[in-house]
Amino acid sequence: MPLEQKKTKYPLLRVKLDNIRKNAGSLVAECARHGVNVWGVSKGISAFPEVARAFASGGIKIIADSRLDNIRRMREAGVALEYALIRIPMRSELEELAELCDYTLISDIGTLEALAEICEKSGREVKCVVMFDMGDLREGFWFKEAERTAAGLAKFTGKMKIAGVGANFACASGVLPSARNLTELAACGAAVEAALGRPLAIYSGGGTGSFVMMRRGSLPGAFNNLRLGEALLLGRDTSFGMLLDGLSQDTMRIEAELVEVRTKP
Ligand SMILES: *Cc1c(COP(=O)(O)O)cnc(C)c1O
Repeated sequence: MPLEQKKTKYPLLRVKLDNIRKNAGSLVAECARHGVNVWGVSKGISAFPEVARAFASGGIKIIADSRLDNIRRMREAGVALEYALIRIPMRSELEELAELCDYTLISDIGTLEALAEICEKSGREVKCVVMFDMGDLREGFWFKEAERTAAGLAKFTGKMKIAGVGANFACASGVLPSARNLTELAACGAAVEAALGRPLAIYSGGGTGSFVMMRRGSLPGAFNNLRLGEALLLGRDTSFGMLLDGLSQDTMRIEAELVEVRTKP
């Protein structure tokens, strides 16, 4: 390779894949002790395939990202895991979603209908995690309307599956997960199970903030899934403002050149 192509370009983000792999392994094991499965969220590092591979070698089986382009890139790089879209889909991208994703978050009946039709036509199976809004005001069916929502989900019995329920916390308006709102979310799941006449496979309790709840023993037993980004990539939690014991925070380093250093009066 000619020399100038090998030159390091700044600013540069050095990623310590080994420490991310260790974080993944620790988180998968700790969550498993609580009956919780981890989706590894890759959007925080723009879905570098090397990082997705570090997640995978730490034992993560499902990668979650907020962009279909990111998911496509990881798939094309040969990271052979299952994928979840964790931002509710635009109508215009449902075909691509069905092609690329095994799971999606979703919270609109019209979108569910359109996706169900695409799944029937293409033969692809997509598993949907129905999002409830517990007060954060990001996406989701309003939690106080769980019964009406649940009734509207009963008709989806084809290739597209209603696989579970979930919620976001500490996002749009910063409502933190609490024993109370998580219990209410579990009740939304129970309402959906009653309407469908079968148990749901996924109760997704949130992101790294909800992992802190799990550590404190405040994640209700119904929950069996967390979508972790910050814990994996940085070993800390912004929602409650803490470093996470037992995880590495030494995962990335920014390198840059000083372009001017001078003392001025
Ligand atoms: C980004 C994101 C996550 C991950 O959140 P962290 O706090 O980084 O763990 C989880 N769920 C959804 C829907 C997200 O958009």
